[in-house]
Amino acid sequence: MSLQDYFSRGLSADPELERAITGEMRRQQDGIELIASENLVSRLVLEAQGSVLTNKTVEGLPYKRYYGGAEFADAVEALAVERATRLFGCRFANVQPHSGSNANAGTFLGLLKLGDTILSMDTAAGGHISHGHPATLTGRDYRIVRYGVSRQNERIDYDEVRALAFEHRPRMIVAGGSAYPRAIDFKVLRDIADAVDAYLLVDMAHFAGLVATGLHPHPFPHAHVVTTTTYKSLRGARGGLVLWNDEALSRRINGGIFPGVQGSVMLHIVAGKAASLGEALRPDFTTYNAAVVANARQLAEGLAAGGLRLVSGGTDIGLMLADLSPLGIRGDLAAHTLEAAGLAVNKNQIPFDPHPPEAPSGLRLSANAGTARGFGEAEFATIAQFIVDLLRAPEDTQLQSRIQSEVAALSARFPIYR
Ligand SMILES: *Cc1c(COP(=O)(O)O)cnc(C)c1O
Repeated sequence: MSLQDYFSRGLSADPELERAITGEMRRQQDGIELIASENLVSRLVLEAQGSVLTNKTVEGLPYKRYYGGAEFADAVEALAVERATRLFGCRFANVQPHSGSNANAGTFLGLLKLGDTILSMDTAAGGHISHGHPATLTGRDYRIVRYGVSRQNERIDYDEVRALAFEHRPRMIVAGGSAYPRAIDFKVLRDIADAVDAYLLVDMAHFAGLVATGLHPHPFPHAHVVTTTTYKSLRGARGGLVLWNDEALSRRINGGIFPGVQGSVMLHIVAGKAASLGEALRPDFTTYNAAVVANARQLAEGLAAGGLRLVSGGTDIGLMLADLSPLGIRGDLAAHTLEAAGLAVNKNQIPFDPHPPEAPSGLRLSANAGTARGFGEAEFATIAQFIVDLLRAPEDTQLQSRIQSEVAALSARFPIYR
């Protein structure tokens, strides 16, 4: 291959790979994405993530790099940091975490000592695995105590959190989960943290967009540190973010990320984060998030009207957890059935689930991606009806193909990346 080709040929030079990527593009264009950990980024974010910044290696923080030639790298990262702090109204940000899990692991490493106690939400109640699940490094390095939700209302039982905090004296309390549909009372948690001299870490991955636009209570000033992914409700590039206000924590948090759990910066991703944070600072991001909440309510109401039970009775954010037991179907079959009709969801355990993670009682759904392509409440009412019809007759393959065409037709009215 000539150098001319090397620097000019695109994806079409690799048909095998191109086929797979084009297939994924079609899947996203034609299907309806309801998986809560996904969203649809703008062309601008795609371009920034695919830029020549992938060639540049830097370590450390902007304007304090180990390697030279970092003038533009510094400009990119400083821009992302400045936008992140402006968006969330805080003093400091680290935009380097390669993922949400790394944001958490690095923050734990920076602020805690090996063997310290962390009080976090049980995965079975909706907590995230990166908050100390035994299968992760965080679960091995720290002593993990779990709080759950109340059996009565499936919401966090703050009295239980307080009792566990006094009993186990954690160094850190973690709030925020991957399948918890309700707003969290950060002030109560901070009071508990203060009473036992613990840090409060809020992981807002699933409601960061709402926080940024004032549609959800703000973790600051209550949290000592806030972590998030940037690609779920923030509708941005793929990675994580750490935010804080107390300068005394800066060296420890930054050092926890690098060299604690990561090496050099993925600058092309940081560029994508800068681009999406810039978008999030625009007024239309507020419009988007308001629509996410309204659409999620519409979807939830439609599912409830069709006989599904919503965990905790509904949702305050873009995400919801539906209990399928009234329909006598499990999450694995339900997810397959919906996928056959072009609707992407994920199976999920519900609190106190009598069934295993492989065949759980629930489904987790979100309005994030559908809203990003322009769906409104009418479309989400239709989607709820598709879901209810499909789950009532999971063996009906004719119904699946009929709804699949309707899904494709609906998606075609809201084109993406064309
Ligand atoms: C998705 C998620 C993460 C982890 O993100 P990764 O980028 O997959 O590592 C962490 N915390 C919460 C609450 C999440 O929902």
